[in-house]
Amino acid sequence: MKGKITTFHCRSNTPNPISYEVSSLEDLDRKICLAQEVYESKLWDNPLVRRSFFEHLTLQLIDRQADLMAIYCRESSLTEERFLREFSRMLHQIKVYEREGALRIEPLAAQSFNDRTLIKRLLPLGPIAVFGASNFPLAYGTLGGDTIGALASGCPVIVKGHPLHAGTSAFLAEIAEETLKCLDLPRGIFGHVLDDGFELGQKLIQDPRILGGAFTGSLVGGMSLFQLANQRKNPIPFFAEMGSLNPVIILDNVPNLEEQVNCLASAITEDAGQFCTKPGIILVPKEMFLKAQELLVQHFTAIPSHPMLHPSIYERYVSRLKEIEQHLTVNRFGEPIPWHGLSALVSLSLAEFLNLEPLHHEVFGPFTCLLSYEEPSQLKDLFRCIGGQLTVSFMGLNPENEPLWEFAQQYAGRMIVNGVPTGVLVERNMHHGGPFPSSTDARFSSVGEASLFRFLRPISVQKNY
Ligand code: NAP
Repeated sequence: MKGKITTFHCRSNTPNPISYEVSSLEDLDRKICLAQEVYESKLWDNPLVRRSFFEHLTLQLIDRQADLMAIYCRESSLTEERFLREFSRMLHQIKVYEREGALRIEPLAAQSFNDRTLIKRLLPLGPIAVFGASNFPLAYGTLGGDTIGALASGCPVIVKGHPLHAGTSAFLAEIAEETLKCLDLPRGIFGHVLDDGFELGQKLIQDPRILGGAFTGSLVGGMSLFQLANQRKNPIPFFAEMGSLNPVIILDNVPNLEEQVNCLASAITEDAGQFCTKPGIILVPKEMFLKAQELLVQHFTAIPSHPMLHPSIYERYVSRLKEIEQHLTVNRFGEPIPWHGLSALVSLSLAEFLNLEPLHHEVFGPFTCLLSYEEPSQLKDLFRCIGGQLTVSFMGLNPENEPLWEFAQQYAGRMIVNGVPTGVLVERNMHHGGPFPSSTDARFSSVGEASLFRFLRPISVQKNY
């Protein structure tokens, strides 16, 4: 028997008053069926149809912004200021992906040979399943980058809404559904389901009518769905963007240690560090270690704590800290407040870190590891140990360290000099992804215009004379 989903407001330590119906398997089946009909009809292949949908959708979102903000803040405990930033990013994504989707249908220039011509173009992959993360209810949520990118590529989409912000998800879905209705477009273009467990999401990705999947979230969730997608009779592309440690390497010629460490501390603590690009490891030459530690501690002590997205995310954070505490001291800062993620720090040498497995994967929350190293060449072992990363940052760079910079690129989706990894621009030259375990396919980005290539496939048309 399916139940209802109730969300929680960590800031006031109270459950939210409205609960949301869990979708049935029959409902899921109906939505997949409708999505397949749309795909086969090719109606959604038409960029003019898509443009009218996206334009109308944008107006509806702007019109209902105040109500959306109220639900978003209530369910995520994120601030209104953060909502406004994410909201404008969501609108920007709709605009640029719609434009990009229209360009992508143009074929490459035809090639003529003695006996034939060849034309190559891109086709929509088919109905796409989307799973968003809890920490970006708009940018990576129900009408976030994956959904809009797939729709803009001409694919119908079925979103499995995130239960931790079920109301935000349902509200956004309602706006999309009303937009379709208003334009007299088929319901199968966009479908939305909610579940209080994994059953529906797993059924969705296993359904033979679904021809691709996009996921943003944890390593465990991403890998579990990736495996299901690969074990199908008709395996499908499944793009999982997962967590990352985002190492930051401070070199001895760092331009201004104090300023850089302060920026890092803000990136670790902002919104309780609930970012996939949060700096999770900071490496400092051993001569600068104590100074860097002092600066981090000063900042962590001064910054007020922030409520986490949900009690379950808070509990996961606390249990990861306890796991680490079995091996070394974890310094926590600030007074405990219900569901607030206290910033936390461990300090150790790189050599010790390499032997401590619990530190080798993401701690989702305002936590970082400060590591001292003897010389930059030692850092190659770090990358061999932690594997692929969404980002690798260098603070300071000189010709002597060029080989390390080159080496690090084998492990990174984005390389940064003298800046923090948080803040992912939705732009043509952005790559958001990286070698495993940061994503399941290092060739593709989940952000920026290039993200649409995940939802398109090439076809050649050969005409013989
Ligand atoms: P999550 O727990 O993995 O949830 C993501 C979605 O996947 C949810 O809808 C979830 O449903 C579903 N799911 C998880 N495990 C599943 C399974 N075994 N079978 C079927 N469905 C499953 O992720 P989260 O905690 O919401 O998000 C935080 C994580 O996302 C962090 O690790 C963060 O670094 C990462 N993230 C990555 C990016 C990126 O672009 N790389 C961006 C933002 C966040 P249920 O909730 O019902 O389990």
